[in-house]
Amino acid sequence: MTGTLTIAGLGPGDDALVTPEVTAALAAATDIVGYAPYVARVRPREGLTLHPSDNRVELQRAGEALRLASEGRQVVVVSSGDPGVFAMASAVFEALEDNPQWQSLPIRVLPGVTAMLAAAACAGAPLGHDFCAINLSDNLKPWTVIEKRLRLAAEADFAIAMYNPRSASRPEGFARALEILKEAGCGGRMAIFARAVSAPDERIETVRLCEARPDMADMRTLVIVGNSATRRVGRWVYAPRQVR
Ligand code: SAH
Repeated sequence: MTGTLTIAGLGPGDDALVTPEVTAALAAATDIVGYAPYVARVRPREGLTLHPSDNRVELQRAGEALRLASEGRQVVVVSSGDPGVFAMASAVFEALEDNPQWQSLPIRVLPGVTAMLAAAACAGAPLGHDFCAINLSDNLKPWTVIEKRLRLAAEADFAIAMYNPRSASRPEGFARALEILKEAGCGGRMAIFARAVSAPDERIETVRLCEARPDMADMRTLVIVGNSATRRVGRWVYAPRQVR
């Protein structure tokens, strides 16, 4: 049998947000590869081998998935949310660049509901006008790049979705990010802290950026800072469609 490699997004957590296409790929898989907490979201069954791995071994994990597919396995690499957003799809293509012998394998990327969109839907419509997404982790890029992008995004008046805002190993980065946005004049903007969206312990908090504290975010939080026109209506937060 010809091997295949499918890179699939499991959505933000709730099974109802897994697309039918991804459900079908998981049902046809012989092997599931990914970061252990995401692999744990796939129900074990006979004929399915799970390959959970640690957080920081993305390229190695991608190479392993390609090798399994080259041996004739039906491999699904899983990410949370969407696999193309700060996740495994890029790692697989990087591994493919390093291993041209695998470039003829049938590869598919199946989209998922990314955290930013799930969080925005819980809050209302904070991404209803122009926006950008920034990963605050400096594992794979220098902190100076993050600072520059935050400043320019603030200047351009984008709504800003921030992934990986804060981890135990780098608690100071998010505090600095909040300072940069305040220095750029964003203190009055709405800031949405969306934690564990679509999971049983989901929590959504909205404050003015000047009232935001670094400890309001952790690694399960997606932070959206509105643009200068973003406002509340009842319990909702939204960006008006028109900017004057
Ligand atoms: N590929 C994923 C993102 C991976 S980066 C996606 O498309 O969603 C991991 C970051 O995503 C976390 O640090 C957090 O900022 C965000 N995230 C993932 N799932 C989340 C959820 N259910 N609720 C809030 N944020 C989430």
